[in-house]
Amino acid sequence: MEFPITNLLDRSNCTQWIIEHFHPSGFGCKKCGAGVEQSRKFRTTRRRQLTVYRCRQCNQTYNLYSGTLFEQHHLTPEQIVLLIRGVFKGESSRTLAAELGLSYQTVLHLRHQLHNRAQALQPETPLPDCASETDEMFQNAGEKGDKHGDPFDPPRRRANKRPGKGTDDNERPPIVGTVGRETGHVRRRVVNNTTGQPLVNHVDQFTVRQTQLFTDESASYNHVIRNHATVCHSQNEWARDDDGDGIREVHVNTVEGLWTDVRNFLRPFKGVHKDYLSGYVAIFEFNRNLKRLNSAFIASLVNLHTFRR
Ligand SMILES: [Zn+2]
Repeated sequence: MEFPITNLLDRSNCTQWIIEHFHPSGFGCKKCGAGVEQSRKFRTTRRRQLTVYRCRQCNQTYNLYSGTLFEQHHLTPEQIVLLIRGVFKGESSRTLAAELGLSYQTVLHLRHQLHNRAQALQPETPLPDCASETDEMFQNAGEKGDKHGDPFDPPRRRANKRPGKGTDDNERPPIVGTVGRETGHVRRRVVNNTTGQPLVNHVDQFTVRQTQLFTDESASYNHVIRNHATVCHSQNEWARDDDGDGIREVHVNTVEGLWTDVRNFLRPFKGVHKDYLSGYVAIFEFNRNLKRLNSAFIASLVNLHTFRR
């Protein structure tokens, strides 16, 4: 059931949310930096009833969305607030389009832009934790939506039943994840395969050298340079007490629990194109690490100048 809700939201509250989150250092002229109080109301747009300001200093016109990736789109503040919320909550583009009264293409386009930018903003820094767990999962991701006119390039087969390790080529691209046991923060990345180096590189980049690392028994982790303990799932071992204090600290249950979250997050999309999987993973990583959206993050996500260096 579609349940359109944009009309139930308050325009001025949504406008205020956008000012706070898109322009946290002050709303005003994008060209000369003069505040909005130094501009005059120039006109109101016909379709969306948005105020257009003209700067008294430099004569530039601008509105609420100038300088952000929404500037070319004719969306109301209510639609934008709900779109961003929906993207972070993992609502499907079709549901969002119906609820917000937007075209599916518009929602998909904006979603992919938000995803790409989230991906570019993913931290490159190691987790500070003294104990961390690393694990990998294989996510079915084919070529959803691609046209297959060529008989020698048939559409994807559902990959669920393929045995063994996933790779990008067999449409089960691996996601490697590390979780810090103290912070609970995660670093998740899509990799091409899990035969050794990508896993070692992930551990090397995203954990501190002195961390105690826990993984399963996969040989791919043999070459990590960390204090390293493994649980042997193939021998039905799930948690072990190595230091004799009665706490079975050798396990990867934390990170495995996080895969359940990833699968739940991806389920409403009914298959994600493998080219876009990294973007979904990035959004979900922020979702977890930030707990609550803050204006600095939203501003860097939507402002065009964030990536113009
Ligand atoms: Zn100006």
